[in-house]
Amino acid sequence: IIEEKVDIQKLKSLDKKYYLHPTTSIHQQQENGPTVIFKEGQGIYLTDVYDDVYIDGLSSLWNVNIGHGRQEMVDAVSTQMGRLAYSSSFQGFSHDPVICLSQKIATMTPGDLNVSFFTSGGSESNETAFKLIRNYWKLKGEAERTKIIGLNRGYHGITMGATSATGIAQFQNMSTANAPDFLHAKAFQLDCELGDKSNPNYRESIRGIIEKEGADTIAAVILEPVQGAGGINIPPDGYLQAVRQLCDEYGILMIADEVITGFGRTGEMFGVNNWGVVPDVLTVAKGITSGYIQLGAVIIRETIRDELAELSSDIFFHGFTYSGHPTACAAALKNIEIVENENLVVNAKNMEAEILKGFKYLESKHPTVSKIRAIGLMGAFELFADRANEVPFEPSQMVAQKVVQECMKRKLIVRPVIFEGSNIITIAPPLITNKEQIGTIIEILSEALTVVEKELIR
Ligand code: PLP
Repeated sequence: IIEEKVDIQKLKSLDKKYYLHPTTSIHQQQENGPTVIFKEGQGIYLTDVYDDVYIDGLSSLWNVNIGHGRQEMVDAVSTQMGRLAYSSSFQGFSHDPVICLSQKIATMTPGDLNVSFFTSGGSESNETAFKLIRNYWKLKGEAERTKIIGLNRGYHGITMGATSATGIAQFQNMSTANAPDFLHAKAFQLDCELGDKSNPNYRESIRGIIEKEGADTIAAVILEPVQGAGGINIPPDGYLQAVRQLCDEYGILMIADEVITGFGRTGEMFGVNNWGVVPDVLTVAKGITSGYIQLGAVIIRETIRDELAELSSDIFFHGFTYSGHPTACAAALKNIEIVENENLVVNAKNMEAEILKGFKYLESKHPTVSKIRAIGLMGAFELFADRANEVPFEPSQMVAQKVVQECMKRKLIVRPVIFEGSNIITIAPPLITNKEQIGTIIEILSEALTVVEKELIR
């Protein structure tokens, strides 16, 4: 499609005229056209149409975990496409890639999370989880269990249910009227979840909400083991275990949204493994194929599947045309093979210390930097006008956005998180990233911070 000699100006004007970008200011895109037009990727690098090379510091959208341009992926996908590009899984039809992938996932997930349903992405996976769980309760004679509790700052996707479960106002405001029966708890209230009613946040905790609403109205709790889009927020030790205990106590199902954390990102194959927790339902996407082909999955405990089979012989009226897409499943199998063969989960764990070392350096050199954190190959820090007293910058100063712009000038892609007046810089480079490359990322961040801090003092 892209000819040998591309007319870049023409591409830009076509983009402006015909392409509505996701999660982008329509106004700015109309004013300025696309920020960058990429043409190829290799490893942790992306090359644009001017042959400028960028570090993909967010693995594109937290997903290109094995890096760009892997010939093994091209081969696996093209072989499967040539053999059986697509066939349906409705009416009980099946094919070897989906069977092999289901079995492979079962060997990787903790506990008896052994049964997979496939989707084309994270939103569809969470949407499926909600419907499947509500249907489960209905079949068990508890149809009034419909409410889903998510966490503030949790992100679960952009379809109606997934947006409603999301705890970030900007996403919810888009749809004006959200789906009913989605509630949000204040995140990480460990004491409250353990039962401390004297804590002033008790009523806003998961436990407080369950008690207020009545446990027999709650279908499930959904949370990310580590919040990604909300700013890389790592729960305190014991929190996930407390939520698991709480769900058991009230007979509520626990959904772990591992769309970002699944397949190695946190230095464990799944985020929940960091705390030894087994949820009832685990949703994945992104890293399952490293983005080479779109795929998501909902993995449920075998006991739940068995109960569903016992409770009804009716059709499970839920399925996407692309549920279990053979080519996507072949991509996932090859991707998982690469993750395992190249010990990328161990690499993610090892790189955590490098990121933290780099962030500590940034903190020592830059007076605005605070609240550094990392787990595996995902990390963040925050910027404050007065860090000792945690005084934020004015949103109009656009501090995080400016840091990100300065990074872009230096060919590093990172992401700002600016919800609720925060100025958070997040990084999540591919799981193949090495020590030297982390060093380069830190150097560029430092240069960008120096420029922005100078401007702030002026
Ligand atoms: N859940 C989490 C934790 C995510 O980070 C995302 C996407 O960023 C989603 C769900 C939605 O996934 P998708 O964009 O593939 O629908």
